[in-house]
Amino acid sequence: MNDPNITTMKIMVLGAEIDIELADPELSSRTHGTRSCYNRGGCRGPLCTYIMRRERRTDKTVAVIQKELDDYLEGRLTQHHADRADRLANQRRA
Ligand SMILES: [Zn+2]
Repeated sequence: MNDPNITTMKIMVLGAEIDIELADPELSSRTHGTRSCYNRGGCRGPLCTYIMRRERRTDKTVAVIQKELDDYLEGRLTQHHADRADRLANQRRA
């Protein structure tokens, strides 16, 4: 049984954790959700731990709630990488 309210709450908490990860001034020059940020940057935020977990995962079946959290993580990851690409493109132009 999956309580939709619990899923919503977990996503809210996860969202806040991602916001904290993205706001870390020590890692502001890094792109989260990459091996480099995890390995060299030492980041253990949700986007970076997610990408490592995703790479390691061999069993593709995940619990429904984890699937929803993973979908959310994928969305934030895609957004973050798009934002980084935009910022780098702007820096190059400036
Ligand atoms: Zn990170």
